[in-house]
Amino acid sequence: MSSCQKPVAGSQLPASLQPPSLPRPLVAALLNPAPPPMPDSSTTLADLRSLVRQFVDERDWRQFHAPKNLSMSLAIEAAELMEHFQWIDAAESRQAAGDAQRLAPIREELADVLCYVLALANELEIDLSTAVMDKMAKNALKYPAEQSRGRYAPPGGTG
Ligand SMILES: [Mg+2]
Repeated sequence: MSSCQKPVAGSQLPASLQPPSLPRPLVAALLNPAPPPMPDSSTTLADLRSLVRQFVDERDWRQFHAPKNLSMSLAIEAAELMEHFQWIDAAESRQAAGDAQRLAPIREELADVLCYVLALANELEIDLSTAVMDKMAKNALKYPAEQSRGRYAPPGGTG
């Protein structure tokens, strides 16, 4: 059995949650120093889930990917992201967007956070798109635009 034929653990997922497999050459190319561009405009969440799933499976790391461990890792990566803004004010934090040298490590931590989100969604078989849509619908009810414009607290709350 070649590595291409190796069953992936994700095959136990229901068909509706089954991420499409990326072609092996694409995965290999992505892991090369100069991966091809895979911009947000043409990359799906399923593509990214599949990429993370394959990376994990090829290293037999699912044994370490208990939701407890992944949720803790997600929080740790979020803290690493926050370190880049820890001692600066809000205005200075906005300046990172135009500073390629400062942005590079921030970009990397943000990717770490997303990789753990995707790994956790894979482990818990959560359809992220549906989850986000459901949550945004709840947010829209909690924060009606007319009553929330320019305010960060929910209507009736302080702030
Ligand atoms: Mg990190």
